[in-house]
Amino acid sequence: MHFPGEKPSAMMDQPENEDAVDQNLDTRLCLNCGFPNRNSDARCMFCQAGLAEESGLVPWMRHNYYVLKWRWQLKQKRAGRKPADRLPFFKGVGYFLVGAVLSGAGLYLSSVALDTASFSKALIAILLLLYGGFILKNLFSKS
Ligand SMILES: [Zn+2]
Repeated sequence: MHFPGEKPSAMMDQPENEDAVDQNLDTRLCLNCGFPNRNSDARCMFCQAGLAEESGLVPWMRHNYYVLKWRWQLKQKRAGRKPADRLPFFKGVGYFLVGAVLSGAGLYLSSVALDTASFSKALIAILLLLYGGFILKNLFSKS
């Protein structure tokens, strides 16, 4: 009986089949730097450390740690794009609001200071206007 999906075992050892193997499932992570090398590599492509299979609980745990770390980094790279695009927008809106509030407060205080001829209020108003204007200037010069 021959199953159509099953390859004869002799075919599996031929080097032509190597490309067909899913490389994501068949990587061997470097125990030195965590770089995923092909299973056929004897040395790490990144740091040239030997990839000899170690046995025991500690190397096994270390290997799993690097697998998780690598997957986490890969996930971060994939997921990192969207929040990275959205965060500066909200940050920009926040800075704009802070700058606008400070400038508005400065304008309000300066009008109060002119009415009451108060030097300390005028000083605070100037500081608020300067700080608010500085934030707004920084915001628009970046974008
Ligand atoms: Zn390495």
